[in-house]
Amino acid sequence: MPALVLVAAQLAVSYATALAPSLAGIKTYAPYFVLAAGGALCLAFNRGRALFALLALITAYAAHGWFLSRGIAAFQPRTVYAALCIFVPMALAALALLDERGTFNRYGIARLALIAIPAAFTAWMVAAGKTMTTAWAYAPLFEGAPVLGTPIPQLGLAAIAIGLLIALARAVIADSAIEIGFAGAIAAFALAAHSVNAREIYAIFITAGELIVTIAVLQDTFRMAFRDELTGLPSRRALNEQLRALGRRYTVAMLDVDHFKNFNDTYGHDVGDQVLKMVASRMARVGGHGKAYRYGGEEFTILYPGKDAADTIVHLEALRREIAGYAMKLRSASRPKQAKSGQRQRGAQRGGNAVSVTISIGVAERGARLATPEQVLRAADKALYRAKNKGRNQVSR
Ligand code: GH3
Ligand code: MG
Ligand code: MG
Repeated sequence: MPALVLVAAQLAVSYATALAPSLAGIKTYAPYFVLAAGGALCLAFNRGRALFALLALITAYAAHGWFLSRGIAAFQPRTVYAALCIFVPMALAALALLDERGTFNRYGIARLALIAIPAAFTAWMVAAGKTMTTAWAYAPLFEGAPVLGTPIPQLGLAAIAIGLLIALARAVIADSAIEIGFAGAIAAFALAAHSVNAREIYAIFITAGELIVTIAVLQDTFRMAFRDELTGLPSRRALNEQLRALGRRYTVAMLDVDHFKNFNDTYGHDVGDQVLKMVASRMARVGGHGKAYRYGGEEFTILYPGKDAADTIVHLEALRREIAGYAMKLRSASRPKQAKSGQRQRGAQRGGNAVSVTISIGVAERGARLATPEQVLRAADKALYRAKNKGRNQVSR
C-alpha cells in the first residue's frame, strides 16, 4: 500500500506543473486536508500512534512554510532542516516501537513529547545561535564518506535508514498494517526532504505520508473486525459473510475442543489460550482446501466450498488425529530463574510438562433438506453433539 501511494505521489509530481495556477492552492493545503480527515479517523478509532505520526508530518510541513521556503543556505533554515531530517524519522520509528495506548490520556501527553521536545530543542538551537552544532549535523558521518546527491545531511540519512529498519522490523514482528504505514511515512518524508527546495513536491510527499498513515489506520480497523486477535483466524463476522457467498455445493464442519473447561481449570487460562492458538494453527492448514474460522470461544468452523461431506472426512480425520497426537510443551511460568536450581527442577520435569487436547467434529453438507447455510450449520452442530455423545475425539456426520 505505501509503495502504491508513493508511486501515485511521484505521478502527481510529474503532473503538478500542469495544474492550472488557480488550482495551485490544492497542493499547498492538501497536507492540511488529509490531516483533518486522517486526524478525525484517528480520534474516532482512538488510534494515538497514527495521530502523532500525522502531527509529526504536519509539523514538518508547517516548518517548511515558516523557515525553509527561501532555501536552506542561511543558519536558521539550515538548522531547522537538519533537525527535521533527524527528528521526524526518529519520532516515526519511536511510534512504531511503542504500543497503542489511545489519544487523550497520560500516554498521549508523553508521546506528544516526541514532537514537542525536538521542536523546543531546535528553537533553542536557533535562538542560541549554535552554529557549531549545526555544522556538526551536516558533517559527513565518517571520513571519506561519499558525497551523495541530496541536500539531506548524512546524519539525517542515517536516521531515515535506521528508522525504516526499525519500522519494517516491527511490521514483520507485529504483522500489522500500522507499522508498515509508519515505514511508508518515513520513506515519504525522506522523499519530501530530498525535494526541500521545491515546495510543491515537498507538499505532495508530505501529503502522501499522511495518506499512507490514514489508509493504514483503515486497514488495521478492517482487520480488527474480520480477524480474531488470539488465533489470527478469520472471525465469526468473516464467516457470516462467506456463508452468504457460497454456491450450491459446500460442506460445513463445526469443531469444539473437548472438556476445555476442565483444561482451563487445571492449567489456567493462559495455557488454555496457548492451546487454542496451537489448535487454530493446525486448523488453518487443514487439507482439502478447507477454510477455518474461529466461531467463538473454543469452537471453530471449517468451510469447504464446492465439496461434498464425503470428500472432507479424510482431511478432518487427519486434523483430529494431528491435534490429538500433539503434545504441547508448557512454557512454564514457574520456571526458576536461578541457574542451579533451575537445572535440577527442569531435569525433574523433563517430559512431564507437556499437555494435549482432543477435538470433536461435526460435518454436514448442503442438500435438498438443508438448503440454507444456517440449516447446514445447525446440522453440523447437531453432528458435533453426536460426536461428543459418542465419546468425543471423533468426527461425526
Ligand atoms: P465439551 O467437551 O462438552 O465441549 O466440554 P467443554 O468444557 O469444552 O464445554 P464448554 O463449552 O462448556 O466449555 C468451553 C470452555 O472453553 C469454557 C471456557 O472456559 C473455555 N474458553 C472459551 N473461550 C476461551 C478462550 O478464549 N481462552 C480460554 N483459555 N478458554 C476459553
Ligand atoms: Mg463449546
Ligand atoms: Mg468444548
